[in-house]
Amino acid sequence: MSEVRVRFAPSPTGALHVGSARTALFNWLFARNQGGKFVLRIEDTDLARSTQESVEGILEGMRWLGLDWDEGPGADAGEYGPYFQSQRLELYQKYIDLLLEQDKAYLCYCTADELDAMRKEQMAKGEAPKYNRKCACLSADDREKFAAEGRTAVVRFRSTDEGRTKVADLIRGDVYFDNEVLDDFVIRKSDGMPTYNFAVVIDDALMRITHVIRGEDHLSNTPRQIQVYEALGFAAPEFAHIPMILGPDKTKLSKRHGATSVTQYREDGFLPEAIMNYLALLGWSYNATQNIFSRDELVEKFSLAKCTKNPAVFDIKKLEWMNGVYLRELSAAELTQRAVPLLIAAGLIDKAEAEAQEERIKTIMAALQTRLHSLVDVVDSSRYFFTDDFTYDEKAVKKFLGRPYAVKLFGLLLTGLEAVESWSQESIEAVFKSVQQELDEKLGNVIQPVRVAVTGGTVSPGMYEVLELLDKELSLKRLRKGLEMAQQQAKQE
Ligand code: GLU
Repeated sequence: MSEVRVRFAPSPTGALHVGSARTALFNWLFARNQGGKFVLRIEDTDLARSTQESVEGILEGMRWLGLDWDEGPGADAGEYGPYFQSQRLELYQKYIDLLLEQDKAYLCYCTADELDAMRKEQMAKGEAPKYNRKCACLSADDREKFAAEGRTAVVRFRSTDEGRTKVADLIRGDVYFDNEVLDDFVIRKSDGMPTYNFAVVIDDALMRITHVIRGEDHLSNTPRQIQVYEALGFAAPEFAHIPMILGPDKTKLSKRHGATSVTQYREDGFLPEAIMNYLALLGWSYNATQNIFSRDELVEKFSLAKCTKNPAVFDIKKLEWMNGVYLRELSAAELTQRAVPLLIAAGLIDKAEAEAQEERIKTIMAALQTRLHSLVDVVDSSRYFFTDDFTYDEKAVKKFLGRPYAVKLFGLLLTGLEAVESWSQESIEAVFKSVQQELDEKLGNVIQPVRVAVTGGTVSPGMYEVLELLDKELSLKRLRKGLEMAQQQAKQE
């Protein structure tokens, strides 16, 4: 068996879409599972729509997900480069010339208007639109005449009407296409650029790709590509078309359904390991029960045999759940490392503070960790540790700071806590316990108003821990504010 070589071949016309990332992932997993090579090829022959920015976005997204490529941009030491189609034009031309010489392709001078009229006529007759082969048998004189008229030619592949083309798909089984319906498709456009269906064959053949794993939306292109392989005498690779990804309403996943670019998920606080795990389950399943797979486990267990034929539904709730699982598994140090850039971006701390307070931030992160659903949650849920500029939940203020004993509570706590010399959870707890006894209230009734005064809301890590982390000065400041708010509530009663 020759070495497995697969490729991911994005067109750089936009951000890295989650569907493309899933295709990249399946190729990467297959390569790593098989000990083969993963090639990244940029299909940038659509000059009008391809941008450098998209190329960079795609590479960055792949790096973020940890999908490293053995050959491709930045790794073109191999013998199969260059890996940008725009740098391979001579190669395509060479094979186009060969097909023209062998009369397996021909020049077509039909204009867009003529083709349009032809299509309309066919449709009016109830026929399926298809190139009518008007230029299939032009003489040299005809060609000269057309050229003299200023017409530019495209090159069309001469396909056959007889028989069927079989796609032996590794996921979908044998799929047959009637050759009758495949027309003489364009392989070189009038601007000299090869079309996708042609360039992809030349590249996959010359790059020795053994398995083409791509979205099912390309299945209908495959018989055309197989005919080109045959015409050029190239051995065709194996094909595996993976199912489409749909939104919850069962239509193709698009912006209407929410974020579709990998970068957006990154910005929304998703961890790359969660995205990788989740994408792996869109069209592949190991068994009916296991959902969480580490990167190594995916590599070990992935197989095309376990890819499914049915479309996969993108379920953001499940992704969010999975993200929470991965977030909670991070060590405090790892979580801190990922959270600090977000805290800095939100203006809660600066770089110097991040360094100086590293241990404190680590403790804060560890305290918050069980409640996080997404990495960006760290900003909102830790805000009160870094600034007084947070919002108070009005309802909570009314409910807890409006309690009849609230003014007294804050007064007693302030007196008790002001006297504390060594600020620790234990000494704070002792004050709370004595105030609780004096008020003869349940502990929860003592803690909750304090929580609202100190954090703005009703959910936070343990109160003694929060106060310890805030330090004495800041804690007292917040409690004084709590006292004021309680007095205000009492006046309003
Ligand atoms: N450039 C094509 C795309 O992005 C590649 C399809 C293929 O894998 O053959 O859809």
